[in-house]
Amino acid sequence: MESYSKNIMPCAACKLLRRRCTKDCIFLPYFPPSEPEKFAAVHRIFGASNISKMLQQEIPVNDREDAVISLVYEATTRLKEPVYGCASLISSLQMQIFQMQSKLNEALAETVTLKTQLANALSIIISSQSHQSNHITEKNNFNLIDFQQLSECNINDNASNARLLDLPVTDSYLEHM
Ligand SMILES: [Zn+2]
Repeated sequence: MESYSKNIMPCAACKLLRRRCTKDCIFLPYFPPSEPEKFAAVHRIFGASNISKMLQQEIPVNDREDAVISLVYEATTRLKEPVYGCASLISSLQMQIFQMQSKLNEALAETVTLKTQLANALSIIISSQSHQSNHITEKNNFNLIDFQQLSECNINDNASNARLLDLPVTDSYLEHM
C-alpha cells in the first residue's frame, strides 16, 4: 500500500492504532482526524478489527456512512449506559410514546364529548328559532285577518269595530262615538 502522505494527517483510526494510514484505508472516509472520539468509542465497544470487517465485507459502500453513524451512536450510548446501552433510550422513548398515546386518547374522547354537547346546543337553538319563527308567522297572519276584517266593516258600525278592537262595548261608549 502506498503511504497516504506525510503532509496529510492520518484518519482518527490509524492515529489511535498508531499505524500508517493509506488512501485505501477503510476508516479514512468515515473517521476524520478532527473527530477522534468517534473511532475511540466504536473501537472500545466493537473493536477496530470487527468494524473493519463489517465495513468491508458486510455493508455496501453506499450504506457505510449510515452504518458508521449508527455504530458511533450505539457505542457512545453503551459507554454512557453500560447496562442497557441503546435499549435504555428505546425503552424511555417507548414509555413516552405510550404516555403521549394515552393523552391523545383522552383528548380525542374529550373532543367527542364536546362535539356531542355542541350538537345538542345547536339543536336546541335551531328548535327555539323555529318555534319563534312559527309564532311570528301566526301573529302576522292574525294581524292580516284583523286588517281585512276591519276594512270590511262598516265604518259606522261602532259596535263591530269595538269588538274587533277588543274595546268594552257599553252604552256610554256607543253614545259618544
Ligand atoms: Zn486510516
